[in-house]
Amino acid sequence: MPFRRPRFVHGKILRNTGSGIFYRMEVAIPEPLSFVPGQFAMVSGWPGNDPLLPRPLAIFRSGGTRGKGTVEFVYKVVGRGTALLSGLHGGDPLALTLPLGHGFEFPGEDRSWWLVGGGVGFSTVFPAAAALDAQRSDFEIFLGARTRDQLPPGDWIPGGAIPGRVHLCTDDGTAGFFGSVTAALRERLDRWKPSGKGRLAILACGPREMLKTVAEAALPLDVRVQVSLESHMACGFGVCWGCVTEVREGGKAVYRRVCKEGPVFDAREVVW
Ligand SMILES: Cc1cc2nc3c(=O)[nH]c(=O)nc-3n(C[C@H](O)[C@H](O)[C@H](O)COP(=O)(O)OP(=O)(O)OC[C@H]3O[C@@H](n4cnc5c(N)ncnc54)[C@H](O)[C@@H]3O)c2cc1C
Repeated sequence: MPFRRPRFVHGKILRNTGSGIFYRMEVAIPEPLSFVPGQFAMVSGWPGNDPLLPRPLAIFRSGGTRGKGTVEFVYKVVGRGTALLSGLHGGDPLALTLPLGHGFEFPGEDRSWWLVGGGVGFSTVFPAAAALDAQRSDFEIFLGARTRDQLPPGDWIPGGAIPGRVHLCTDDGTAGFFGSVTAALRERLDRWKPSGKGRLAILACGPREMLKTVAEAALPLDVRVQVSLESHMACGFGVCWGCVTEVREGGKAVYRRVCKEGPVFDAREVVW
């Protein structure tokens, strides 16, 4: 049985290769892993204890058979931890705690799904696309980047070969829609006609400002929106309360841990 409860495991890197500005890292772990799209791992593997804390990365894919598992991550180098990760090679050890957090929900009454990824946020929404594909649900993907080179490679995009399914957006117009992913989403929402078939749901991950704009555009149309929030986190499993965000529950503002109650939240509850 694949494990689905959080565990600390010693992994071994199988490959860690760069493609454009993104790295894709596959790691062998002792047992196969079952995860919900949106869940993540706390990862460290660099020699020494600087930086001290592991870094959160969304689980991109998992595989394997009994007694042997694999897990994959996609990441962008933004600072010291991710720079050190990018310098690791096949055969190097990696320490992982996974799967962590509360992932996306896929209620049966939502039949059309739009997945929105800003920047490296695609690493969180692509697993959701794979899950929707497996259950033969209808989905479209909106990907936003500053420029063409900051979009994920085409062969990473689930369903990318199907016309009309993937909306690429670049701020400088070098690929796809000329403008922000939220502008493209607003245009698509303008053309969207609720059908008797079921509700539209949006799953989004990216910069907070992008998520806020997605929520503002879609919530008034009674579209269900789930957002995966990013926050600095120290432990990753709910102990330190270092990653809290303000949400509204039953009319009351409360703090919830991004690592434990999140990272996926109902956009109606987030205090933007
Ligand atoms: C649940 C979750 C899932 C994530 N999944 C992925 C993923 O799949 N791929 C990926 O590339 N990144 C992902 N991230 C972001 C990733 O964790 C950070 O980029 C990483 O921790 C940066 O570490 P660093 O040591 O390289 O940078 P640092 O030196 O710690 O920071 C460099 C810069 O990045 C900013 N930064 C660092 N961490 C965060 C954060 N969590 N949120 C916002 N800004 C931050 C810092 O403020 C600073 O400006 C995820 C974050 C969370 C919370």
